[in-house]
Amino acid sequence: MTDHTHADTLRTPIVAVLGHVDHGKTSLLDTIRGSAVSEGEAGAITQHIGATDIPLDTISGMAGELIDPSDFDLPGLLFIDTPGHHSFSTLRARGGALADIAVLVVDVNDGFQPQTEEAIDILRRTGTPFVVAANKVDTTPGWNPQDGEPIQRSMDAQSERAKSMLDENLYEIIGQLSDAGFSADLYWRVQDFQKNIGVVPLSALTGEGVPDLLTVLMGLSQRFMKEEMAIDVTGPGEGTVLEVKDERGFGATVDTVVYDGVIRNGDTVVVGGQDEPIVTEIRALLRPRPLAEIRTEKEFEKVGEVAAAAGVKIAAPDLDQAMAGAPVRVVRDRTVDQVVEEVKAELAEIEVETADN
Ligand code: GDP
Repeated sequence: MTDHTHADTLRTPIVAVLGHVDHGKTSLLDTIRGSAVSEGEAGAITQHIGATDIPLDTISGMAGELIDPSDFDLPGLLFIDTPGHHSFSTLRARGGALADIAVLVVDVNDGFQPQTEEAIDILRRTGTPFVVAANKVDTTPGWNPQDGEPIQRSMDAQSERAKSMLDENLYEIIGQLSDAGFSADLYWRVQDFQKNIGVVPLSALTGEGVPDLLTVLMGLSQRFMKEEMAIDVTGPGEGTVLEVKDERGFGATVDTVVYDGVIRNGDTVVVGGQDEPIVTEIRALLRPRPLAEIRTEKEFEKVGEVAAAAGVKIAAPDLDQAMAGAPVRVVRDRTVDQVVEEVKAELAEIEVETADN
């Protein structure tokens, strides 16, 4: 554990989007990113390796009347970009402890499907707080779309018939959540989000209900995760491997989500490997080049350090045996052996969890 006694800063909560194939995970992320960018502010979003950072100001612009930004002191939300991606399924199989909070996307017509059940099992096992995005409300027969509006406004614009058809589907999902052992309700009826799962009806296609989802995610994080978000931004970096990738000129690299401390170029790191932990020294920390500079032939830019929460590509020797889902730890203030033991222990714990499942 990191010592949280000094230099604490509130970091951005890490959000994962899970759900059955075709239920709309990618579309939802695209819509969130797209409407953030169309808010028009410079710095509306920051693209990380494997993640997108949406600052509070941008979220507040998107959520409009639903959010008063002065209620929050968390800096925003960091969305992991690769839903249902092969590495993410490995990650989920390994314990999925990567995200602070999750969005479970369920097609409102289709209800629970095998990968919904699988995702729920992982969320339960890892104790990850989540909200349900009941997606594709616009496919309700007779729907009158209200692009980008909060869901109550959108509901007010629907016929009684459309509303009752949607309600029927929503209650079906609430019933399925209950069968899975989670007491749930439409999010505006939930009093205590620690006891009940909030269901947010929305459409990734029209954007209606998306302001509500962002509001609920900010609210949940602020209320229940603030303490966990307090980190020592100067402490040794800790992260999780999202993906191992060969990059021309760098060899094997690990795309990493950093959830604690700071990682600096030149740091010695321990990375979970297929046989044993890999001890190596960082040769480069890489981030996506800003859009404005995309014309240069290089995809990445080198940075001197990254502080949590962030997605970053780490280039270092000997990373070809690294594993998606494995821990990454900076060696600082401790010996290499201590950190290696810590990584081993963490991997063993993950294997036990997986075996139990
Ligand atoms: P994923 O596999 O969960 O990432 O699902 P996708 O985001 O790729 O979506 C699967 C299909 O559903 C695509 O054809 C999307 O255009 C469509 N889709 C996603 N969200 C919505 C929605 O809210 N409304 C409608 N009508 N279609 C949607």
